Amino acid sequence: MHTALQHTYASLQALKAQEDANGSVAIVISETSPEPVNWKKSITKHVVTCLECGASFKQLSVRHLKEHGLDGRSYREKYSIPRTQPLAAKETTARRKEIVQSSRPWEKAPTYVKAQEEKQRGKAAVAPRKRTAQRKGTARAKA
Ligand SMILES: [Zn+2]
Repeated sequence: MHTALQHTYASLQALKAQEDANGSVAIVISETSPEPVNWKKSITKHVVTCLECGASFKQLSVRHLKEHGLDGRSYREKYSIPRTQPLAAKETTARRKEIVQSSRPWEKAPTYVKAQEEKQRGKAAVAPRKRTAQRKGTARAKA
């Protein structure tokens, strides 16, 4: 619902801009232009602009693309966008990468956790146990 409203608002803004331009100068419609749409301009630091309707988002959702009868794949094909290019604002993409890196999902893998535990156990065995025991004894005596 929220997305739909944003979409409508953006469309109205775009129409208004076109009307303003039509008032004085005849505009060249992009369909007749041999120059391909530069999708790179549609993905900026803060927003990604839908090349179908000109609406701006943090992330171009599948649900929105559906409104144009497209999905991530056909949208990319239509505008010659590489398959590896995320349809999201650069900032959003960068933040998502950061989250993945900081949470290190692979460290939660059971095999990794087990290996770390074994490493810890190995260190403990090497540590001088005698001295630790003595110190503990002294502390207990004082207390
Ligand atoms: Zn759109």
